Amino acid sequence: MAMDKVEIHKHDIVIVGAGGAGLRAALAASKEVNTAVVSEVLPTRSHTVSAQGGVAATLSNVEPDDWLWHMYDTVKGSDYLGDQDAIEFLCRMAPEIIIELEHMGMPFSRLENGKIYQRRFGGHTKEFGKEAVCRSCAAADRTGHAMVHTLYEQCLKNGVTFYNEFFALQILTNEGHVVGVLAWDIVNGGFHLFHTKATLFATGGYTRIYRTTTNAHINTGDGLALTMRAGFPVEDLEFVQFHPTGIYGVGNLISEAVRGEGGYLVNKDGERFMKRYAPTVWDLASRDVVSRAMAEEIRHGRGCGPKGDYILLKVDHLDPELIHERLPGIWELAYVFAHVDCTKEPIPVVPTAHYSMGGIPTNLHGEVVLGSMDSPESPVPGFYAAGECACASVHGANRLGTNSLLDILVFGKVGGEKAVEFCQSLPEHVPLPENAGKEGIDEVKRLVDSTGDEKMDAIWEELRDTMEANCGVFRTEETLSKQKKILENLCERFKRVRLDDKGKVFNLDLIETLELGHMLEFSKAIVEGALARTESRGAHYRDDFPERDDKNWLKHTLAYLNEDGRIRLDYKPVRLKPLTVPTFEPKERVY
Ligand SMILES: Cc1cc2nc3c(=O)[nH]c(=O)nc-3n(C[C@H](O)[C@H](O)[C@H](O)COP(=O)(O)OP(=O)(O)OC[C@H]3O[C@@H](n4cnc5c(N)ncnc54)[C@H](O)[C@@H]3O)c2cc1C
Repeated sequence: MAMDKVEIHKHDIVIVGAGGAGLRAALAASKEVNTAVVSEVLPTRSHTVSAQGGVAATLSNVEPDDWLWHMYDTVKGSDYLGDQDAIEFLCRMAPEIIIELEHMGMPFSRLENGKIYQRRFGGHTKEFGKEAVCRSCAAADRTGHAMVHTLYEQCLKNGVTFYNEFFALQILTNEGHVVGVLAWDIVNGGFHLFHTKATLFATGGYTRIYRTTTNAHINTGDGLALTMRAGFPVEDLEFVQFHPTGIYGVGNLISEAVRGEGGYLVNKDGERFMKRYAPTVWDLASRDVVSRAMAEEIRHGRGCGPKGDYILLKVDHLDPELIHERLPGIWELAYVFAHVDCTKEPIPVVPTAHYSMGGIPTNLHGEVVLGSMDSPESPVPGFYAAGECACASVHGANRLGTNSLLDILVFGKVGGEKAVEFCQSLPEHVPLPENAGKEGIDEVKRLVDSTGDEKMDAIWEELRDTMEANCGVFRTEETLSKQKKILENLCERFKRVRLDDKGKVFNLDLIETLELGHMLEFSKAIVEGALARTESRGAHYRDDFPERDDKNWLKHTLAYLNEDGRIRLDYKPVRLKPLTVPTFEPKERVY
């Protein structure tokens, strides 16, 4: 394969990723400067399209609501690991960002009076935890679909250049700046260098490292591995969210909207067990609580089915008309994947890997930042991140449902705007480094030329099974140490991986192998961060350290990749000082 030709493109801003975060950033930037988007798939195939339940904003359309209550819920939901300045910013921006979308033409579901429909969702309450509140703005159960299409239309209108089906391989740095990105053209083959003043990563989540997951096939966390390889840290990766209701056997998501509309969970005795674990909000407790409660029921022999290894989600008591109007996608998913008509029978569900709270560290302007316990945060010139691949950190140790669609809109927009400011302050592009992109090009060549004896899919299968078994809902020192060794072994095997397809055109064997290399790298950061963190907080539950330990662990983990492939951990403080309101101090868990 001719590998030497490299095409160079020059833009002010390149955004890697065309989900909600990337598109919102592109929209903000394209009003001011020359903006391009590089995406592995067509924008409308990004994972954001599958978001179901809705996006949080205190519009008060159904009942009185307040951004301060939203902030309180988010801080508490984060198990106090969230940065409170960023959370305040998120919650205060929410109503404005949703109205903006409405004005762009997003087809929200409507109330009788014509206002945007809002539903209840786990962890969202009124008056500081009193009772569940209607805060999630929804377009039936296809909110993400409506959102991506609305944003994509606006980007096209604004003249954004799209490089679709291009795979980013390496971040380019020079003189302390990020100066662009190297990518591979999936359709035709060939390398492309994007030379930029500012680069914004919006590459999404990574839970394809687990066997049971709600995520799309492309959610392989490439952005995290590229960031680590460029010498930058990733933050709080040990916090992986398991959604309580994935369809048994396949993992596809049954949105919390189902419980928001009145659905509930039962064990094999037909008992609504959530009342024992969360006496105030029952089935609408936060996701970490519900997932662990379900796993506990199964562990204690109260699971359903012949093997006792799932829980039942009941909606058959609801009006079938409501199901077909408000939850049509759920009905279809249950029918196709679990073979049940959920208007007549319950859906078998299990906890499923869903969301990554951690990511590329940023401040509340979307600037990627460096920092440690004793040095204050400082931005990396020219580097921005937003959406699920970033860690602002508004979700801390556990994300509340509907706060991610909000996060991608808010930080996509402000990240895009901040990147524009930076571009305008920089008279010229910082030059590309000598041999720009060499590492990425060499990696592709090495894989294509390799004659090793290992197969990509065998390594991936083992990664998924072992991450689920050893670094899932429950973790201990024993399982995590075991997984650390397994990952070392898988990384060794990866060095001998051989491609079956040596071609240039649509070589998905190559793309999946590159993705596997990325996943192995950041999985080490997940496992080692989890091993070091000897406490239980949010989604990170250590059987051997079941209590939260604020004295020693109220801090963010930073993981760096050393040149020898090992992980180095560091820490930085949680920003407990909000912008304008009193701090929410860590409290005993209420549920
Ligand atoms: C089934 C499901 C339902 C959900 N429901 C909700 C909900 O109701 N409410 C809510 O708030 N959240 C929900 N979430 C979470 C939320 O949808 C996601 O966190 C959010 O959409 C992520 O958006 P993003 O823009 O960061 O990334 P994505 O939408 O995942 O987009 C990532 C982009 O990065 C690109 N990319 C990745 N790697 C590369 C590479 N190497 N080179 C080039 N491009 C690359 C991809 O092409 C893609 O365009 C749900 C998630 C799932 C999986």
